[in-house]
Amino acid sequence: MLTVSTHLDLKTALSGIRGEVTFDASLAALTSLGIGGPADALVSPADVHDVCRIVRQAQMARIPVMALGGTNLLVQDGGIRGIVLSLGHLAAIEREETRLVFAEAGVRMPVLLGFAVHHGLSGLEWAAGIPGTVGGAVVMNAGTKLGVMQDCLDAIQMVDPEGRLVTYAAADVAFAYRSVSLPEGVVVGAWLRLTPASRETIESRTKSYLQYRKQSQPLSQPNAGSVFKNPQGTTAGRLIEEAGLKGHRVGDAEVSTKHANFIVNLGQARSTDVLRLIETVQQAVFQRTGTMLELEWKVVGER
Ligand SMILES: Cc1cc2nc3c(=O)[nH]c(=O)nc-3n(C[C@H](O)[C@H](O)[C@H](O)COP(=O)(O)OP(=O)(O)OC[C@H]3O[C@@H](n4cnc5c(N)ncnc54)[C@H](O)[C@@H]3O)c2cc1C
Repeated sequence: MLTVSTHLDLKTALSGIRGEVTFDASLAALTSLGIGGPADALVSPADVHDVCRIVRQAQMARIPVMALGGTNLLVQDGGIRGIVLSLGHLAAIEREETRLVFAEAGVRMPVLLGFAVHHGLSGLEWAAGIPGTVGGAVVMNAGTKLGVMQDCLDAIQMVDPEGRLVTYAAADVAFAYRSVSLPEGVVVGAWLRLTPASRETIESRTKSYLQYRKQSQPLSQPNAGSVFKNPQGTTAGRLIEEAGLKGHRVGDAEVSTKHANFIVNLGQARSTDVLRLIETVQQAVFQRTGTMLELEWKVVGER
């Protein structure tokens, strides 16, 4: 429950905004794992100017702001203090030149991929089956063995902590495996440089990759994608499987029996169950191989 002063601070920080606001909003429904306590305030900004206003006012009121799409993170049961932005209204996609597409940060990757296929633009096929937002894909440098976000990013639009709209050329940003060194702020859009190609070819590549995912990943159960980064020269899934941990459970959190680098929620899993399972996996793999698996997921919020 929010204290009266927090509530007042939040109301001040959110005054005059045009998007929807829900106080004490459960985040479980917003995450693909179906786990997570409440956000003090969950806000869906009406547009990018609303994001600027929220960030600026929150900064003045010293209230933290974070954005989420919800598909590569674990929100802890204690929830998130401050303002959580869900960017669903930032959903515009435009073809600006023959090869250049601008997508707002709330666009879901499957929607962006559908747009690229429709316009006969190749370069995003690797993203088939990645469910997060464009903003999350930029911040995570999302990717597969076929490609990564960095390969097609031309520039990134952000709202900085003072609430100003700024653009960074992708060439000036350092990308790494599932990370990028961006300044603090909220990603609100991205320009992608794609290559004209036959629609049939793009569609068939996309379909075969989706098929491969359906066969190898537990897509019918709540999950948040790969839990751990792949260590050099091997995969996290292989190390976990070799440690005999497929199907290992803590409460309703289970190492997927289909793909060992996925943790699935069998129904009532809590973040503490998932964190204990993560620790068990890390310890077992470390004892067996000397490799400490590093989390790909972001763990956010309070215990
Ligand atoms: C079934 C399944 C399969 C998946 N397969 C893959 C895969 O093959 N490859 C892969 O890389 N990922 C995969 N993922 C994970 C996930 O979809 C991607 O990492 C995605 O890019 C994360 O986007 P998101 O919007 O959900 O971000 P979130 O998971 O919500 O956030 C991730 C981080 O980015 C930050 N963030 C999110 N949006 C913004 C923003 N607009 N501005 C600033 N910070 C922001 C969050 O605060 C958090 O720190 C998979 C997930 C699932 C459920």
